[in-house]
Amino acid sequence: MEKFYCPECDHSYPIHSTQWHCECGSPLDLLWTPKFFKRKILRRDFNLWRYREALPIHEDRSILSMGERVTPLEGMEFDGQSVQIKIDYLFPTGSYKDRGAAVLISKARELGIQKVVEDSSGNAGAAIAAYCAKAGIECDIYVPQSTSPGKLVQIQMYGANLKKVKGSREETARVTMRAAGRTYYASHCWNPFFLHGTKTFAFEIWEQLGWRSPDTLILPIGHGTLLLGAYIGFKELKEAGEIKKIPKLVGIQSSTCAPIYHAFLKGLTVPPYLRKGETMAEGIAIAEPIRGRQILNATRETGGEILTVTEREIGSAMKEMGRKGHFIEPTAAATIAGLKKYLRRKPKSEAIVSTLTGTGLKALEKIKICNIMK
Ligand SMILES: *Cc1c(COP(=O)(O)O)cnc(C)c1O
Ligand SMILES: [Zn+2]
Repeated sequence: MEKFYCPECDHSYPIHSTQWHCECGSPLDLLWTPKFFKRKILRRDFNLWRYREALPIHEDRSILSMGERVTPLEGMEFDGQSVQIKIDYLFPTGSYKDRGAAVLISKARELGIQKVVEDSSGNAGAAIAAYCAKAGIECDIYVPQSTSPGKLVQIQMYGANLKKVKGSREETARVTMRAAGRTYYASHCWNPFFLHGTKTFAFEIWEQLGWRSPDTLILPIGHGTLLLGAYIGFKELKEAGEIKKIPKLVGIQSSTCAPIYHAFLKGLTVPPYLRKGETMAEGIAIAEPIRGRQILNATRETGGEILTVTEREIGSAMKEMGRKGHFIEPTAAATIAGLKKYLRRKPKSEAIVSTLTGTGLKALEKIKICNIMK
């Protein structure tokens, strides 16, 4: 049976407890042994549940699915160099957060939970709200007041109780934690089941590359739920003997809010507290990443690095993606801006995979404000 354990002090907890962090304050991880049966995988529908034996859900009837497809891995050229890009804005709610929400809310249903709370800068809240609607689970979603109106309308349309918090993303988190004392905390940052959904990003790439891992992944870092999911996924594949190495993880932050970048440069094991500035990349404007220590460990262990991008670089990456036929939100464009920076000095013949994390349609105001239409 799986359990929660603390990577800091080795304390463990049953998964049905409402304890969402260790008594020592650390976020919890999931202890669980996944299995991979390629022949079974190939026989199943082309959605993330095809990796069924690697996902921590016991009963098939607990599974909530909107047929989340395995997202395309599209070959593209940037400045004359070839890269493969996962088109993750094609998920039902318009961002990769559906990977995590599908598994976390399926688990909540399996555990018999009737109400959850979550806080988010928008996309995670929309994903949790959509899967809760599907499950018939009540949910309260806390968001900072400055969240893109498109995301707010979407969350309400799914029937969630939208709680707008005056103040920052960090203040929003503090208000939600108080509510989480009474209600199941379906947090994409704290709850390990979310990461056991985002890890399907790794499984899909492994299959799409012919059961191999790429050399390098270029991924966004806010709370790091995609980066840590990818790390867990490739680590599980390696431990199962399916691949030889975990790809090098290259994380991208906005230069106005880059706690992980500063920790990485200074050799710190936890991110420092820094004041954050304004950025149109609202999805990665995270000053206090909950799993900062784990993000730094994973990046260092794989020989990776952290890069930052400016508002101007984000704007021009968004425009370039538009001209390639992909309308993405500024947060997603930040990753592509980072990819372009990385490509300028990458070792030749590296196989690189990156991603388009969210659609542009929810963030029209943020896009207009930054004048990239000119
Ligand atoms: C959430 C989000 C990110 C960043 O994910 P983290 O888990 O916070 O690192 C990137 N892009 C989009 C579109 C997002 O919604
Ligand atoms: Zn602990």
